Amino acid sequence: MIYIGNHLSTSKGFLAMGKAALSLGGDTFAFFTRNPRGGAAKAIDPEDTEALKAFMKQHHFGPLVAHGPYTMNVCAEKPEVREFSRNALAEDLKRMEYLPGNYYNFHPGSHVGQGEDVAIPLIAEALNKAMWEEQQTTVLLETMAGKGSEVGRNFEEIRRIIDLITLQDKIGVCLDTCHVWDGGYDIVDKLDEVMDEFDRVIGLERLKAIHINDSMNPVSSHKDRHAKIGEGYIGKEAMERIVNHPALQNLPFILETPNDDEGYAKEIAQIRGWMHS
Ligand code: FE
Ligand code: FE
Ligand code: ZN
Repeated sequence: MIYIGNHLSTSKGFLAMGKAALSLGGDTFAFFTRNPRGGAAKAIDPEDTEALKAFMKQHHFGPLVAHGPYTMNVCAEKPEVREFSRNALAEDLKRMEYLPGNYYNFHPGSHVGQGEDVAIPLIAEALNKAMWEEQQTTVLLETMAGKGSEVGRNFEEIRRIIDLITLQDKIGVCLDTCHVWDGGYDIVDKLDEVMDEFDRVIGLERLKAIHINDSMNPVSSHKDRHAKIGEGYIGKEAMERIVNHPALQNLPFILETPNDDEGYAKEIAQIRGWMHS
């Protein structure tokens, strides 16, 4: 089995997200740790996070997959962007301690012309500065579509970042199905081969979460446009195989599809219907 849920708004607080997830049929969810446009993050109400923890336990939720802001680029060439991004990363990880044992996923960054050989050590440096030994969150690097100068466009680049991380037991990967497809991995006709390649290059023990999205574009398009489940180039049959793939069991699956609540509830029910166990 897998855990399934969707991306939710933080506007009504943490317990409200738990309740929203449950009402849509979910048993995990994702949320942005702060406004993607930047600025200060809202103060956390510890009573609210405690209430969510109890709620999640009561309803047997899987781990949450928080998402860092899209505007974060820890390998940016501009010092002020890098500074903002690194501070946001460090602060987000401290805030995650209110919800221990969950995941913090973020986009490794864009090298904007510097090249990945410059960017990869910058990403690792940002993480090594922000992470600490007692932290209770596992940080996840998201596999990217390779749009523009995105770093993490293939498994090799993700592996190179991981290799430079000091706290090896606190780093993992979130695989986005739309992104890897757009990045050139044929998860429709060669799912087993792609998972074997992930295992060989990164190691399956690093895989902690899935972003389950269909893609509006063919394989290798490097576009990153998410489609509703079964309405894109990946399609229903491949999605059903992904949900049931032995290498992906017990992971939280997060929908980032273009949907309202009703659409998310439908996709969650559809995916539950596909689950063999
Ligand atoms: Fe993402
Ligand atoms: Fe994603
Ligand atoms: Zn995307």
